[in-house]
Amino acid sequence: MNERVVVVGGGITGLAAAHEARRQELDAVVLEAATRAGGKIASGFVDGAELPFPIDMAADGFLARQPEVVELCHELGLGDDLVAPTGAQAFIWADGALRSIPTPSVLGVPFEPDTVAATGLISEAGVADLAARVDIEHEPLAHDASVGEVIRPRVGDEVFERLVDPLLGGINAGNADGLSIEAGAPQLFAAACAGGSLRDSLRVQVTAGQAAAGGPVFNGVKGGNRRIIDTLVEQLGSRVRLGQTVVAIERNGAGWVVVTDDARFPADRVVLATPAWITAGLIAPFAPTAATTLAELVYGDAVLVTYVVDKAGLQHDLAGSGFLVPRSEGLLMTACSWASSKWDHFDDGRHAILRVSAGRTDDRRWLDLDPAQLLDQLGAELEQTVGLHAEPVTRITPWRQSLPQYRPGHMARCAEIDTELALVAEGLVVAGAQMRGLGLPACVRQGRAAVAGTSAV
Ligand SMILES: Cc1cc2nc3c(=O)[nH]c(=O)nc-3n(C[C@H](O)[C@H](O)[C@H](O)COP(=O)(O)OP(=O)(O)OC[C@H]3O[C@@H](n4cnc5c(N)ncnc54)[C@H](O)[C@@H]3O)c2cc1C
Repeated sequence: MNERVVVVGGGITGLAAAHEARRQELDAVVLEAATRAGGKIASGFVDGAELPFPIDMAADGFLARQPEVVELCHELGLGDDLVAPTGAQAFIWADGALRSIPTPSVLGVPFEPDTVAATGLISEAGVADLAARVDIEHEPLAHDASVGEVIRPRVGDEVFERLVDPLLGGINAGNADGLSIEAGAPQLFAAACAGGSLRDSLRVQVTAGQAAAGGPVFNGVKGGNRRIIDTLVEQLGSRVRLGQTVVAIERNGAGWVVVTDDARFPADRVVLATPAWITAGLIAPFAPTAATTLAELVYGDAVLVTYVVDKAGLQHDLAGSGFLVPRSEGLLMTACSWASSKWDHFDDGRHAILRVSAGRTDDRRWLDLDPAQLLDQLGAELEQTVGLHAEPVTRITPWRQSLPQYRPGHMARCAEIDTELALVAEGLVVAGAQMRGLGLPACVRQGRAAVAGTSAV
């Protein structure tokens, strides 16, 4: 008999797992609690805006230099629709102006002081501090630590707070001082593990990245990421069951039964691609230590507000992909992505589309605002930063408990979870953003590996 795979959770991880199972001609079913698949990949129309297309309401692109999503798109027949951002540069809002992010840099970490000085983003003293640090030789990093512990001493506080934290803290709705460098910034971890000076180790990373890939660093799909989900769902057909909340998993001889409110699904392998606290509840009867580890994973809350406005309603040309905001600026927004400049497929020639994010684990102000207050505050900040002076059409998309915060030791804890499950609950596999990476390539890699039995690292 064919192996029966039941996937719990129909986000990108779960759908990638089912896609792999289908490819291997296994029996597969995806049980998704919501009435739509995709989890944190979603798009929608902005009511009242005269836009002929829906907009991504969360992830709008993915790393192309990790090949998993690109490969998946080719398998799905979306290869011809892969697009690169327009190449437009990104900025940091600091001291009342938008300033270019220096290049070269790796995950926001610059290593050539001269290019940093040219941006005007860092004070003379901050550039001198960076210059004094980048060539200091370090012993190879021997174990995981926080990004702050490793990178602050190598770049100085000012560069860290104006460049590194806005990028790495911002995209995770967290704080780079608490983020595991191994799990949250693998390139920086590899550089630190190599030892030597920051300048030398990051130069190697940049050169290797350029040589290996040749193509763009990021990709998107024409029309938006939602098309990846729609295509997976279409090709998986009746294997995807919506509105099926999994409430328990039971042993069934050598296998398992996955229980929803109104059905039971026998399985040889169960892939748990749900948020950590849901997974924790489902595996607790069999693997209590792994369940406790998962239950302790903290998630950040973020909100994404989409603004659509006539291009003439801004005093800025939006020649770029958007900007990040260091926490020292005191703004509510953490980032503003200029979707209509960044992606050709979101440019109708007439409207500016801005995707404004707010929320960090240590900045929860947006949760205390009602929608009108949120729009007032962010609108005022858009006036300040890009000269918004016309009435925009908006859509608010809250993403509560959406971004897992990987603390130091996260990857070791993932290995412990795998080991415990293999020992006491063979056939149960945990995958997705709760484990080894929240970016779409990492999620796809983990979903497929959970079925193929290959390494998810
Ligand atoms: C605002 C935002 C912007 C982002 N931008 C980017 C980006 O630009 N690029 C990038 O690479 N990544 C980005 N990410 C991260 C990325 O989108 C997510 O990490 C990824 O989509 C998570 O996928 P997943 O399948 O692991 O989990 P999820 O998407 O959380 O899927 C889990 C699924 O499980 C379902 N579920 C929950 N409980 C049950 C149950 N009991 N029974 C059945 N089903 C259940 C949920 O409904 C959900 O559909 C962003 C995330 C956010 C929040």
